[in-house]
Amino acid sequence: MEPRVERDGLSSLMDTMSNEGATPKRKAARIFVEGIVQGVGFRPFVYRLAKSLGLKGWVLNSTRGVEIEVEGPESALMEFYREISLRSPVAASILSKEIYFHDPKGYSSFIIRDSVEEDLRTALVSPDIATCEDCVREMLDPYDRRYMYPFINCTNCGPRFTIIESIPYDRSRTSMRKFTMCSKCAYEYSNAEDRRYHAQPNACHDCGPSYFLVSRDGSVLSRDPIDKAVELLASGHILAIKGIGGFHLVCDAENSSAVERLRLRKAREMKPFAIMSPNVETVMSFCEVSDEERELLESPKRPIVLLRKARGCFIADSVAPRSNNLGVMLPYAPLHYILFKPPLRALVMTSGNISDEPIVIDNDEALKDLSGLADFFLMHDRDIVSRCDDSVVRVIGGRACILRRSRGYVPYPIRLHFRLKDSLSCGGELKNTFCLAKDDRAILSQHIGDLKTSSTFNYYKDSIKHFEALFSIDPEIIVHDLHPEYLSTKYALSRKGKHVGVQHHHAHVASCMAENAVRSEVIGVALDGAGYGADGRVWGFEFFLTGYSKFERIGHLRYVPLPGGDSATREPYRMAISYLYASYGSGFEKLQVCRRWDQEKIELLTRMIQREVNSPLTSSAGRFFDAASSIIGVCDVSTYEGEAAMELEAIALDRDLETYPFDIRTIRDGTFELDPRRTIISLVEEIQRGAPRTIVAGRFHRTVAELILNGCLLSAQETGIKEVAISGGVFQNKLLTERVQRLLEREGFLCYLHRVVPPNDGGISLGQAAVATFKVDEG
Ligand code: ZN
Ligand code: ZN
Ligand code: FE
Repeated sequence: MEPRVERDGLSSLMDTMSNEGATPKRKAARIFVEGIVQGVGFRPFVYRLAKSLGLKGWVLNSTRGVEIEVEGPESALMEFYREISLRSPVAASILSKEIYFHDPKGYSSFIIRDSVEEDLRTALVSPDIATCEDCVREMLDPYDRRYMYPFINCTNCGPRFTIIESIPYDRSRTSMRKFTMCSKCAYEYSNAEDRRYHAQPNACHDCGPSYFLVSRDGSVLSRDPIDKAVELLASGHILAIKGIGGFHLVCDAENSSAVERLRLRKAREMKPFAIMSPNVETVMSFCEVSDEERELLESPKRPIVLLRKARGCFIADSVAPRSNNLGVMLPYAPLHYILFKPPLRALVMTSGNISDEPIVIDNDEALKDLSGLADFFLMHDRDIVSRCDDSVVRVIGGRACILRRSRGYVPYPIRLHFRLKDSLSCGGELKNTFCLAKDDRAILSQHIGDLKTSSTFNYYKDSIKHFEALFSIDPEIIVHDLHPEYLSTKYALSRKGKHVGVQHHHAHVASCMAENAVRSEVIGVALDGAGYGADGRVWGFEFFLTGYSKFERIGHLRYVPLPGGDSATREPYRMAISYLYASYGSGFEKLQVCRRWDQEKIELLTRMIQREVNSPLTSSAGRFFDAASSIIGVCDVSTYEGEAAMELEAIALDRDLETYPFDIRTIRDGTFELDPRRTIISLVEEIQRGAPRTIVAGRFHRTVAELILNGCLLSAQETGIKEVAISGGVFQNKLLTERVQRLLEREGFLCYLHRVVPPNDGGISLGQAAVATFKVDEG
């Protein structure tokens, strides 16, 4: 067997074949295709393609991907090889193709062979794919045998990652194993001409999973569970509905008393709920939808898209209070289409969980944990193997920015421009994801959440185990944040292997560099809530000269005390007092803006700051936003992470407003310091003059963008570099990010933003993997 490796292109194959004359000659080849090629209708596609070209041989799923052996006239072989890439199924994604030629064996037909198991497990697991148009059409056709069947699927759509226990992807390795196909389904499954040929979750009313409606005490309620569920939703009840990646809590999004009841029961005061609506046309009746947003809404990934509320928005205010945005998604499971019967136009679809715990996936668990939240339970009997929350995206600067990368995206690998060390990167503490790396691929986990709850931490550890087994990666290197108290750090240190610590904001910037295939050093700008700094302080508004293996801090926001440590994160007014004290000194409490707060509390906090008691220093941008939000009177106490900044963005005018003054100076260690004390003073004066909050908030945003621009200009002067990578949770703020991008580009900077992983802590595991690879190489 004479190996000839081909990657991305036919040129060398054509070269070898062109001088062999015009006589048709039989040739044979073995072809390996890697990428998302299992569970997406790839083998039937190959089968049909081979047949149409008169080729003989076989195709099978292997642990590497798809393996094909073909024989036939060389021109047909060439066409076959080319068409594999050009006409592959919509849900497929080819990462590489290889071809090896050998002598023909004389096959008489083309067949699909059973999967083989090998040691080398590099096959990729497909993310879950939203119900395709063909399936929706069949499901809504009263003459189809799957009329209103809520688990309809085909080789182009349906659950994948959430039902897969191990690879190669075959029904026997999924939670569909327990459903034996009826003769009709089995025929479709084994008939290569059928669009359900080898569709692993193939099922119907007669043989597949089904829904049932259950009351709180566990008794089964109705013969027509879905019709009854629709009736209950329309009459204002709250249902727990089992879906693809877990349970949702669902109610009519136009019924404010139902939504408020859900808030009360979930003890969720302000944090917006996501909603689902049946189609884009309906969404456009209550939200503004741009072309990019429409494309995201309708993509087979079906994420929640953050949209701007339209004038006359009829969704209950309590769905997303104090926000001008709504998180909206379209149906992605067959059941969702059935639920939208008039009068229902929009349903709240929020994760079925208790506050910070992971989303519930198990029926018994749901009855136990969610009985205080839901009136009824619409459940099914197919097990969810991997829980997976809905993904969230927002269009920033005309392109999708992923805020939560989960269902529909995971576990699709992120391909990098360099080879990674086999490693496990343990991520941060909030919005945690972890990353398993092998070759040039980084496989990020779904959104895990806040590790501080014990059930979430267990979910984290279980998911790591599942991923390691699924992708057969035994990491030599374990990467962690520098924060000694992060549970992800403690977990990392408890594992055997070579441990590599990566500074939080270095990981942020490196993740942005890696996904943008940046090869040289850049100016890294990281703005977030908090990260453990190399000097032991709480960093969060940083300018770095950044390479993959190391970084150098060039500048940062001036340090201020964080009175009360963590409680300052939950109570933005503490930061307001810290910034007012820093800007005015003693006597600030006489300012008009302080009248809202209890004088005793002000005194107490001031004393803490003066005596440096429980007041660590921070350069956090998140806390700077908190301070402004509280001083402006938007949010004194936040009920969820990031609330103060989000509400400030929501009221800010996006207009050509003047910025507030600030100072920049070089400090002792040679770094520059952005000093915003004059910003605070001007902002306070403007409020006291009676300026509208919308203008003050708008000017504040412009000022932060100006601070970033000035930091970059200074960094460029220092380093001679005009490329900037921007990362950190603050850049989920559309108003700020778009302004920063415009300012930087106007000054001739090349500006890299996040598109593939979130700018928040959900993206740092990728940066950790990249940094660790280079750190280990450079010793
Ligand atoms: Zn389908
Ligand atoms: Zn069936
Ligand atoms: Fe962070």
